[in-house]
Amino acid sequence: MTDPQSTHDIEAVFREKGIPFTRQRRLIWDHFAGADRAATITEAADALRSDGVGQATVYRTVTLLSDLGLLARVQDRRGEICYTAPPIGHSHPLICGVCRKLVRFEGDGDVKELEARLAAETGFSIYGHHLEVYGICAKCREAGRG
Ligand SMILES: [Zn+2]
Ligand SMILES: [Zn+2]
Repeated sequence: MTDPQSTHDIEAVFREKGIPFTRQRRLIWDHFAGADRAATITEAADALRSDGVGQATVYRTVTLLSDLGLLARVQDRRGEICYTAPPIGHSHPLICGVCRKLVRFEGDGDVKELEARLAAETGFSIYGHHLEVYGICAKCREAGRG
């Protein structure tokens, strides 16, 4: 699998903003970037405890990464707030609402018509959008969890 969001890219984003990319921030980032499903802050904190990263640090860093647009905030079917790292560039997450399995897809021109209609109706100049798609993955459907 190719990974367009290398550590190099994230370091560049932090450098550009003048924010230090500390060891703990790197660990937290790596946790989300390397995951194949969305995770809650509590789950990330549990996984990172053995690396000496505290829950408060995870919370602050996830908020920072989310504010920087590097983590997307998503919900599972129970309404639990989770986070996932979509690749930098135009792509979107598709999330299983049951097990939170994650598929990242390219969103090239996906909502062009909607944006054009909104621009015409509102007079806005539209420069971007934020999109997550939810469903039930094949495994969960087979298991009758859908
Ligand atoms: Zn699933
Ligand atoms: Zn899109």
